[in-house]
Amino acid sequence: VYKNSEKLYSTKSKFQKIEVFKNKFFGNILTIDDDIQLTEHDESNYHEMLAHVPLNYIPDAEHVLVIGGGDGGTVREVCKHPNLKTITMVDIDQKVIDVCKEYFPKLNQGLNDKRVKVVIDDGAKWVEENLKEKKKFFDVILIDSTDYNTAQTLFTDQFYQNLKSLLKKDGIMAFNCISISWEKKEVDEVIDDMEEIFKYVRLYQLFQPTYSSGHYSFCFCSRTINPKHTPINWSEYNNKKIDCVYYNKNIHYDSFN
Ligand code: SAM
Repeated sequence: VYKNSEKLYSTKSKFQKIEVFKNKFFGNILTIDDDIQLTEHDESNYHEMLAHVPLNYIPDAEHVLVIGGGDGGTVREVCKHPNLKTITMVDIDQKVIDVCKEYFPKLNQGLNDKRVKVVIDDGAKWVEENLKEKKKFFDVILIDSTDYNTAQTLFTDQFYQNLKSLLKKDGIMAFNCISISWEKKEVDEVIDDMEEIFKYVRLYQLFQPTYSSGHYSFCFCSRTINPKHTPINWSEYNNKKIDCVYYNKNIHYDSFN
């Protein structure tokens, strides 16, 4: 199916190769360093699950940090929560933001929200500096990064220790993990590593047809919130009248099973 794609755009930024393809079935497709990032066809599954699953445990959350996410999809979903006061997105590459503004306008709307601050920096460096200054603590931290190359700084124990320190006590961190079906051993390793840092570490799954195997996962980490037992106030969520393509209450619970 992918073979019948037309290349719309290609560039090498200071950090990575960014390309956009047009496909009859998937719509526009973003790749970074030849690795698929998203397609217009099913990006909602990914961005809704990354944002709403953690945010629904903290209905009065105020501050959210997104590391990566330059396409804007995660911020778009986060912005649907009116209780939030600030949303900080730290992406290393301004070029991804610019390219997505042009080729993925539906993902990008959130970046114009008054509560959103976009910072161009390496996520690990920014987190470390912010921690030293103890300026702000976050209710929810979401990592929406690439998996290789420029993202290497985000794959160290120190980075996750720093994120833990930057979270409020009852905060939640979630990040894009890997395929449960095809990378079982690696998934177990991720969980073992995170369990050294957080009390509650739970994988939640989603159906993401355009990622390897289609059976993809996020990792949920918290010191105090056990996602399978901590109640969610669903009427509060319903009152927010959040429009979703993929996410709903049943999917929320099933994703942890
Ligand atoms: N959903 C996608 C996936 O899992 O394949 C990720 C989407 S998003 C386009 C990934 C973003 O991570 C890119 O915009 C990239 O610039 C950003 N990124 C990579 N390394 C980073 C780093 N060290 N700090 C901050 N952002 C980073």
